[in-house]
This record gives sequence, structure tokens and C-alpha cells, in this order.
Amino acid sequence: MAAMPTYIGMPTFPEAAAIALGDSQLRHNLAHATGTIRAKRARAVAELSDWPDLRATAKAIKDHTLANLDTYLLRLEESVTAAGGHVHWAADATEANEIVASLTRAAGADEVVKVKSIATDEIGLNEALAAAGITAIETDLAELIIQLGHDRSSHILVPAIHRNRSEIREIFRQEMADAPPGLTDRPTELAAAARAHLRRKFLSAKVGISGANFAIAETGSLVVVESEGNGRMCLTMPETLISVVGIEKVLPSWRDLEVFLALLPRSSTAERMNPYTSIWSGVQPGDGPRDFHLVLVDNGRSATLGDRIGRQALRCIRCSACLNVCPVYERVGGHAYGSPYPGPIGAILSPQLRGMTDPVDQSLPYASSLCGACYDVCPVAINIPEALVYLRSKAVDAKRGKKKLRPEAVVFGVTAWGLRSPKRLRAAQRAAAASRHVVGRSGKIRRLPPPLSAWTDTRDAPAPPPESFRAWWGRTNGGRG
Ligand code: SF4
Repeated sequence: MAAMPTYIGMPTFPEAAAIALGDSQLRHNLAHATGTIRAKRARAVAELSDWPDLRATAKAIKDHTLANLDTYLLRLEESVTAAGGHVHWAADATEANEIVASLTRAAGADEVVKVKSIATDEIGLNEALAAAGITAIETDLAELIIQLGHDRSSHILVPAIHRNRSEIREIFRQEMADAPPGLTDRPTELAAAARAHLRRKFLSAKVGISGANFAIAETGSLVVVESEGNGRMCLTMPETLISVVGIEKVLPSWRDLEVFLALLPRSSTAERMNPYTSIWSGVQPGDGPRDFHLVLVDNGRSATLGDRIGRQALRCIRCSACLNVCPVYERVGGHAYGSPYPGPIGAILSPQLRGMTDPVDQSLPYASSLCGACYDVCPVAINIPEALVYLRSKAVDAKRGKKKLRPEAVVFGVTAWGLRSPKRLRAAQRAAAASRHVVGRSGKIRRLPPPLSAWTDTRDAPAPPPESFRAWWGRTNGGRG
């Protein structure tokens, strides 16, 4: 299975989280930003009395589509082709990147303008194009900041959420050749500098590259929702448009779009409707690109679809609501998740798309307190806690049988041995009760020796009770069991 190239060599979640937690500025930025979005979203959702019905309908549409994905993908191919577009199938990231590079070369371009697209981050498209001598220009403001800053996105909706405006000014001053002299950190000035810079790129680009929020099988229409208008420019001005879309983005009919366009803006940006909704079907003479290519990407999705519990992650519409309510994300930010999909959805999607063979992916399902807030807000009702627990069991299975002695396996092995015999259990309870005078005088155990220190390094453990239930029962019931 193809890995996500941009994220090779990332630390595991606990290692990355420990580094992120040391950055108090990051924690402050995240707490402020997620708190603001959270409150706005709650107000926008509360305006719709039928939100639970919309949510249930969206879930049903997605489940039906995923259960019949082969049918709808073929229907989408037919519709796009009939509308004058071309459809390409990519089994993995390498294939998708090669297709895009060869289409770009065929269009005679060595520079492309891009609409924000996590699917292209997932496949490492920019890096692959650079290796093929093609420069990809990100045109979403936050993505531009990330690209110029040689950085990585840390949020699905607000990729540069970890940057403040003085950092952005420095990035523009150092990396944007046409940044105005004397640029300050006022948001209007920063936005104007980016706008002028990008306008020149839009006017000269021969090829535009996008993802899509939805692809309608019935009509062959693709849909991009955005806030800045840069997407509209990329989708309409270049002669060639290439859309790189995960196969799970298909919806059966035009009518289905109504449900998702009610859910997505409120859930993501807390708006009743996003400022720009671009919808295009193939090519139209005299209007927009003359050549349209749709690259349908699998890259681990078929394998995910084959998993009864894990497949619900494919319902995701990338609204980012689960990130904004997650107490873990709020403290560590997006980089700790080692993939373009951060937060709760990243913790269940990335390990499935990439497989659970890497320590990073085996660590991701543990990046949660299992509080359930992500499930509550998810507009397509993905039961993220259920998937997390399930993937934890897969992570344990993946490690099972490895020669390396793991403390966790030793602890559970000794516990199982003790529980198998009432005599041994009684002896262990007596020993634990006696040990409380040494290790837990305050009622809590604050420090244990290795390997148990892995637990007490980050939390207290309750001291054993002075008397077990079994001993108390025997004492208070005259020895009757
Ligand atoms: S999992 Fe649900 S809440 Fe999270 S980004 Fe996807 S659709 Fe939004």
C-alpha cells in the first residue's frame, strides 16, 4: 500500500504530542481559535430544528452510496465522459501523481495553480510535481502561508491555525518576492499582499488543480465549497482543469447535494451558506476550462471499505467539527497526528488508509480520551470512539507475536495468571493492600518504577484499598461467601 510521502519519518503520536505540549504559544492559539469556532458552530446548528433529521439522512445517503460504490463510480464516469470530461483511475498515490504530472506536461505547463485539497496533500502531489519539474502554487490563503513557510497543515479547515499574524508577515517578507515593502501584520494588508501575488499567478496559469467536496454520479458534476474565491479562479481561468478526488466523495444524485450543503457550511465555518459554491459538469464551449480531467483516487479506500466498523470513516465530509471539540487536538494541534488528516477523524482515517504497520499509525487510535464529543458533533454521525477502540484492538493485534518484550504484554500476562486462581488473586490483593503504606500514603500513587512508570509519568494511579471486597465481605458476613 502506498504511504503518504510528505509524512514519512514523523514521530509517533505520544512523542509528537510531548513536543507540542511544551509550546505554550501554540496551546494558547489553538484554545482561542477552536473555542471561537466551537461556539459559532453551536449557534449555527441550533438555528435548524431538523438538524438531527438532516444528520440521519446524510448518514443514510453515505452508507447507501458506500454499499453500492462500484455502481455509483461507474455512473459518475459515464456522466463525466458524456459531459466532455475524461476520467482516470488511480489505485494509489504514485499512480495519481503520475497521471497529474503527465496531464500537466501534455498541457505544456510547468506551473499549476491549486485549490485547497487534502486529497492532494494525502498523495504528496506538490512534492511529486516538483520532482517532475512542475511548480504547484497553493492559492488558498492559509495553504499559501503553509507553502511559503515550508510548513505542514495542522487543521482541515484552518491549515495555518498554529500561526499568528506576525509570523505570517515574516513568512511573506522572506518568501514572497513581490511582497510590498513595509508590510505590517494588519490582516487587511496581509490579505492584500497575498491577493496581488496570487492574481498574477491566476492570470498566467494554464493548468488548475482541485479536489472536490462532492461528485454527483447522476450529472457528472463536481462541487467545491470555499470562502475566498481563489477556488473559483482556479476552476474557471486555466485552460485545463484536473480534479483529484477520493472515490468516497461520490453522491448518487443531484438531490442529495441539498442535504450536504445544509450540513457542511454550518458544521465547518458556522455559516448558513459558504461564500463560494462552484459546481461544474464536464466542459462547456466558451465557458471555463476547455479540457477537464477527473482523477479518482483509491489509495487505501477500498481496503477501508472492506472493514465493517472502520468503513464509517469514509462518510467524512471534512467539516473539521470533530477537531474543534476535541480536548486532545486543542492541546497538541494538528502536526502531532503525522498525516494531513489531524484530530479525531485523522486518528481513525490515516491508520486505515495507510495500514497499521507503522508505529505512527499504531499510535494514532490512542490519541483520544474517548469523551465522545467528536461523535456528538459529527454531521454524518461517524461513531469515532467506537472506531478508535476497534482500531486499538487492531494495533494490539499488529504487535502480537513480535519478538520484542512489551511491558503492556507482561502486565496483562501476569494479571491473567493471577486471575486464573482464587488463591493467587487473594495473595495479590493482600500484597497490594500492604503496599499502600509504601507507595500510596496520600491515597494516590504518584510514581512507580519502570515499566509501570509509563503510566505514572503522565497521571496518578489510585492507591490499592486497605481491604479487598472479598475480605470485607468475609469479615462483615461472618465468613459467608
Ligand atoms: S469526522 Fe465528522 S465531524 Fe470530523 S471532519 Fe469528518 S464529518 Fe466533520
